[in-house]
Amino acid sequence: MPTPNEVRDTVILGSGCSGLTAAIYAARSNLKPLVLEGHEPGGQLAITTLVENFPGWPEGIQGPELIENMKKQAVRFGAELRMAHLTRVDLATQPFSLGIGKETIHTRSLIIASGASARWLGLPSEQALIGFGVSSCATCDGFFASGKEIAVIGGGDSAMEEALFLTRFATKVTLIHRSDHFRASHIMLERAMAHPKIELLRNTVVEEALGVEEKELKGIHLLNKKTGQRWTLPVSFMFLGIGHTPNARAFHGQLDLDAEGYIQTQDNVFVTLQGQRIAGVYACGDVQDRRYRQAITAAGTGCMAALEVERYLEEQGR
Ligand code: NDP
Repeated sequence: MPTPNEVRDTVILGSGCSGLTAAIYAARSNLKPLVLEGHEPGGQLAITTLVENFPGWPEGIQGPELIENMKKQAVRFGAELRMAHLTRVDLATQPFSLGIGKETIHTRSLIIASGASARWLGLPSEQALIGFGVSSCATCDGFFASGKEIAVIGGGDSAMEEALFLTRFATKVTLIHRSDHFRASHIMLERAMAHPKIELLRNTVVEEALGVEEKELKGIHLLNKKTGQRWTLPVSFMFLGIGHTPNARAFHGQLDLDAEGYIQTQDNVFVTLQGQRIAGVYACGDVQDRRYRQAITAAGTGCMAALEVERYLEEQGR
């Protein structure tokens, strides 16, 4: 616990792959980083099952176990982890102030690794089946859909990309979109529509995911909003491709965000305000990456952010 007048060398917001990688590097530089774990401790990996594309795990590793290992590694070198999330932030004056409820923490540098949260439909049955046939990450879980009939929800580029990617594994992909207007780029939509394994359902919404008791997705109840027709589609997997929300709202007005709310960065991790870099503040992982969104890329930018903190503090004579 920091004492009231203490100024930390660095605070890391978020305990997903990027935040914990930053913590490992900062801790190994003896900066005793404080990691505020945030609303979703462990980030998106904590709600994934088997991760097969993180280098070094030839047989794969469960997402929660990978995160737990990273936490242990960070703590072993002196990182302090706290179950808390940011309620206020002031980046206008040094040291920066961070509010956690009534408490204020002062820090010379800040690494923002608050991630992005996948959007879900919000059905209780969907939430109960996450990891048991319901997923928001085709790259992570697509392999498990091998030989199965599956559904992909969404009408943007993510849904098209997921549907096309999943045709490598699934025998049939039903792409379900709630309207007949698509946000997806023309080329992606055409590609998806032309694929022999993909069937497109428009104006259709998922009303329920089936299989909660069995802990295994058995199918989805659908409603065609135009015709009023209801039916059950027997699928073993449902992938959500309805977008992500970057967890950057607290920085609105203090940092440059793009139209979707992602933190804009220069050279991967340098944040800006009106185009000018803010010394001592860095962003890494999915809160600033709308393109790759992979565990390994989050780890990579987490490492970069910590190295920049080290450089910055050294320049300040710390
Ligand atoms: P988008 O916001 O573009 O699309 C989200 C889609 O999900 C929309 O079709 C939306 O429907 C639907 N949706 C949202 N909420 C719900 C809900 N509750 N129930 C049902 N459907 C819902 O997000 P994407 O992730 O697809 O794309 C984000 C950005 O990333 C875009 O700029 C995209 O171009 C880019 N991207 C680029 C890729 C590439 O170039 N290869 C790959 C992936 C993304 P509605 O339209 O009715 O609101």
